Amino acid sequence: MTVSDNLLKVKNTLQKNITLVPVSKRKSTEMILEAYNAGQRIFGENKVQELTKKYEALPKDIQWHFIGHLQSNKVKYIAPFISLVHAVDSLKLLKEINKRAKQNDRTINCLLQIYIAQEESKFGLSFDEAVELLNSEAYKKMENVKIVGLMGMATNTENITKVKSEFTMLKNYFDKIKQDFFANEHYFKEISMGMSGDYQIAIEAGSTMIRVGSLIFGKRN
Ligand SMILES: *Cc1c(COP(=O)(O)O)cnc(C)c1O
Repeated sequence: MTVSDNLLKVKNTLQKNITLVPVSKRKSTEMILEAYNAGQRIFGENKVQELTKKYEALPKDIQWHFIGHLQSNKVKYIAPFISLVHAVDSLKLLKEINKRAKQNDRTINCLLQIYIAQEESKFGLSFDEAVELLNSEAYKKMENVKIVGLMGMATNTENITKVKSEFTMLKNYFDKIKQDFFANEHYFKEISMGMSGDYQIAIEAGSTMIRVGSLIFGKRN
């Protein structure tokens, strides 16, 4: 199977309202171009240096999503072009994104990463921390970031019931935050959840955006 075959295979299982973010981390520009030539325009990366290299090498109409943990001191390198930051996990990071977006005379779309898994190592905000961020004066003053939804990662387990309940928890958090902070903002609409192994479960739970790597590009080393 080629990259474009895999891409079409995944796309054909999706309803039109689900955004597919092929995750091209640690994969070559040639493989990305193959997906691009099959019509794909959105790609996800999780390392700043790798992303900036690929941005420079590849067509400029690609919409790059940053899906991993982003360090504040690296925001400046992607601020000129990044289309969506999936994993905002602190007010400090959001402040920096706002500052760099302003310097570039643009608005950067962001998702708040919410901690839903049990694993200790996962980054993210608790629901209460997300609410606290949205209530902060610092956030209310920001003019160059737009929070368009939430993102989360389920526990890496075979236990489908557990994964489903974590995704459902994120969907419930989304509904509460939508109601309390974005009731009249049509742009707050994305729930980024689901990867190669669990995206069908995520969609059943209400995902609007799935991040799929290995199923499209093959296993990573
Ligand atoms: C790598 C990665 C993915 C894609 O993982 P696959 O299992 O290869 O689909 C999705 N989301 C994040 C945050 C990742 O780092």
